[in-house]
Amino acid sequence: MPDTPRPAARTLRTVGDLVDAGLAPEGARSALEEVARHYATAIPPAFAELIEHPDDPIGRQVIPDPAELVVTAEERSDPIGDDALSPVPGIVHRYADRALLKPLLVCPLYCRFCFRREHVGPDGGVLDEAALERALDWLRDHPAIGEVILTGGDPMMLSPRRMSRIIRALEAMPHVHTIRIHTRVPVADPARITEEMVAALDTICSMWVVAHVNHARELTPQARDAIRRIQARAIPVIAQSVLLRGVNDTPETLEALLRALVSARVRPYYLHQLDPAPGTSRFRVPIAQGQRLLAALRGRVTGLAWPTYVLDIPGGHGKVPIGPAYLETMENTVVGVRDPRGRSHRVEEGDSAKLALPRRGR
Ligand SMILES: *Cc1c(COP(=O)(O)O)cnc(C)c1O
Ligand code: SF4
Repeated sequence: MPDTPRPAARTLRTVGDLVDAGLAPEGARSALEEVARHYATAIPPAFAELIEHPDDPIGRQVIPDPAELVVTAEERSDPIGDDALSPVPGIVHRYADRALLKPLLVCPLYCRFCFRREHVGPDGGVLDEAALERALDWLRDHPAIGEVILTGGDPMMLSPRRMSRIIRALEAMPHVHTIRIHTRVPVADPARITEEMVAALDTICSMWVVAHVNHARELTPQARDAIRRIQARAIPVIAQSVLLRGVNDTPETLEALLRALVSARVRPYYLHQLDPAPGTSRFRVPIAQGQRLLAALRGRVTGLAWPTYVLDIPGGHGKVPIGPAYLETMENTVVGVRDPRGRSHRVEEGDSAKLALPRRGR
């Protein structure tokens, strides 16, 4: 393998591409062909250029590895139970007020730790016109759905025209007031965020873009410009990151990521505990370690940078916060709390029964 991988001018997709680019050793060819039979690979130039070594925080996320063929006991093909919650193709409905709409399963790159890795891919499919219409009809028929979350795959891989048609259809539903777009495109293929694309996002609904970013180095000048083009349309950009071994699992790398997001005016929203998708154990960080990482940042890093650390409970039971706890005890009117430096304090609350009584005679 050459010492320095060569930058690619086009998206790397095949084992041959990886070997030629110096991102995989010749000797791994047959094992990687086996991985390729299960999972798609795509490494766009924006990411390939950032890889200094195949096992660095960027390379690890996108370069296939023979370890993906090893499936551990707790891993499952549908880790968060999306399949059981899909009333029609393209829709996932778990919470009363919001639903996912997945217009396609194509991504600009294929994350090796993806929780939908059994489904996403270049041939994973795009909802055809009739299927998209049925998914939209399901949303039209469910007035309790106030928020539609476009995900996939990556919705920013749609053409601006098709994106616009979906947004127009959603905003025409009187009950839909909020639209969210989950995407990796701003960092993975920033050139796709054209003026035409951001114009397509213009809507009377409350529009939010959630960018998936896992390492500070992903926020290149081009990625920041792409984010700026979205923000320039008065669309807030927030971030979701996955806690990943060898990518962002030290206090330094996590702090650099969160600070880089805030400096790009992107509020870190969720830090996800890795979902147990097949062949992802090389990325796993124990929850106890995740809590320690976040606790190390508390008080030292601006609160704007502090994400909610969440676990999507396997089996489709929903996401819950699992961050470090600062509340230690609650006894009658005394609450024990821990401060950011780890010291315990007793806080006297007063008699809550009296506080809760309505005032009389006024
Ligand atoms: C994650 C998820 C959402 C969004 O959850 P928030 O906590 O609102 O970000 C909605 N529906 C499904 C099925 C999800 O998996
Ligand atoms: S961009 Fe999202 S959906 Fe696509 S491979 Fe990565 S994690 Fe999976």
